[in-house]
Amino acid sequence: MLPWARITGERPLNAIPSGKRAPCSLVAPAPHLPQVLQIGQLKMISANSSFKAIIIGGGPVGLATAHALHLANIDFVLLERRPAIVEDKGASLIVHPHTLRVLHQFGVLDELLPRGAELSHHLSFLASGHVFNESNRYTQIRENHGHGPVAFHRAELVETLYNGLPTTIRENILTDKKVVDIQTAQDGVTVACADGSTFLGSIVIGADGVHSKTRLLMRGLALAEDPSREWDPQQPYTAEYKLLFGSFPSPSPPGQGYDIQAKDRAIMYFSGPERGWFFLYKRLQKPTSERTSYTDEDIDKMAKEFAEFPLTRGVKVKDVWPKMLGSGLTNLDEGLVKNWSFGRIVLVGDACHKMTTHLGLGFNHGIQDVVVLCNRLRKSLQATPSGKVDANTLTGVFFEYAAVRMGSLSSLTGDIYKSGLETRMHAWHNLGYYVLSRYLSVPSAVENLVMQYMMMPEFRKGQVLDYVFKEERMKGKVSWIYSMGFGQHDD
Ligand SMILES: Cc1cc2nc3c(=O)[nH]c(=O)nc-3n(C[C@H](O)[C@H](O)[C@H](O)COP(=O)(O)OP(=O)(O)OC[C@H]3O[C@@H](n4cnc5c(N)ncnc54)[C@H](O)[C@@H]3O)c2cc1C
Repeated sequence: MLPWARITGERPLNAIPSGKRAPCSLVAPAPHLPQVLQIGQLKMISANSSFKAIIIGGGPVGLATAHALHLANIDFVLLERRPAIVEDKGASLIVHPHTLRVLHQFGVLDELLPRGAELSHHLSFLASGHVFNESNRYTQIRENHGHGPVAFHRAELVETLYNGLPTTIRENILTDKKVVDIQTAQDGVTVACADGSTFLGSIVIGADGVHSKTRLLMRGLALAEDPSREWDPQQPYTAEYKLLFGSFPSPSPPGQGYDIQAKDRAIMYFSGPERGWFFLYKRLQKPTSERTSYTDEDIDKMAKEFAEFPLTRGVKVKDVWPKMLGSGLTNLDEGLVKNWSFGRIVLVGDACHKMTTHLGLGFNHGIQDVVVLCNRLRKSLQATPSGKVDANTLTGVFFEYAAVRMGSLSSLTGDIYKSGLETRMHAWHNLGYYVLSRYLSVPSAVENLVMQYMMMPEFRKGQVLDYVFKEERMKGKVSWIYSMGFGQHDD
């Protein structure tokens, strides 16, 4: 019998690996504000005080939105339902080079990079421990784009994003603010929170994740106005797999990104400077769009099923399980929302698209949303110096933003497909996926073609803020379509 650690659905970490760096500290919640609050009462930085954005959600994409709006000199308040922005939960986030460019524009790259591990070594295993593929995919990304993908502990990335904002701007980030209602009018929006506080603004940016309340409220408003209009269903995503993720003191050198493949099961393993992270995937009995809550017993059961699976050549799941620092079990939702905005409300991040975690791209796409949206929003505000941008103009901006993100200028639609494909290949979803994963995609010539014609052209499309000039740090063999300076455009 294994010494199974007791863990909850998503528990805070109770131990940290030894090392020089301090663990992620909890950031004290912002002080509560008066019951009824107008955004104008907050300390704002913009010369143009009449336009205010309300960001809902203080996850990584909400914080990225705060950075982009701050750099565009656009006033905002961010409402987060949790009591603290930085909570030491979750697993790793893989950040790709096009996103590192944007993080450089935010001014957090140098703080961030030493906290992660650049991926440099890839192996594919069978459940028996047999290695059937060793590829140079990470090296190719580095050669092409100037940097390999970097594995960060999610909480450390969130902490760096938060701390990277000036102190005065952080005062606009409010915790314990669960949004329960949104009302829109011709000239503005009102957002209500569960504690009775109310916020007035010009627009709402919903960065509140896969089960977005903003998306739900927006849907209600759209259908109340015209019950016959076509709109996304209440639950727009579907899951075919569930995912047990967790972190533990790393049992192997940093920079490993391995996959383990079996029938209806798969694993991804990454090693960072201090932690290792695993992702255990299991196919559901049938696809579901319902939100599922898992218990401690479900987690224990699933971990036991994977106990003998390898993570590296010498380490199995059962070896790290007693040392877990945190873990969680969730359904692996997939899908693309069609309606990204309504009037003065717009969505970013997991609120409007969700992909499986195999390619590590969900957060990276949230950053692209923020970039494309804020570039357009800033231009439209510049054209309206009073800040009184009318609803029709905003609707146009939001439509263009969604069209760019869902069109061929962006890699989003293809990446949702490719991430799902990778998950199904690794879990041998059917005979076709098995043959593709186990044999057809293994020869290095095939992988080189995939990197050259499927991955590289998509990474190149990564956009950057067109109003923040920084020296280009990601220089590889392949040029970026959007340069790191003023004047780039996508229309
Ligand atoms: C295990 C796992 C591993 C992943 N690995 C990667 C990876 O390697 N690379 C990658 O690019 N992506 C990865 N992803 C995907 C990535 O985590 C998401 O795409 C990303 O976190 C989305 O960020 P977000 O801010 O849109 O949503 P979230 O991170 O879900 O944040 C939403 C925030 O909104 C808040 N909120 C929700 N409702 C309300 C409300 N009513 N009022 C106020 N606040 C509210 C929540 O508390 C939360 O803080 C992974 C996902 C998982 C589950």
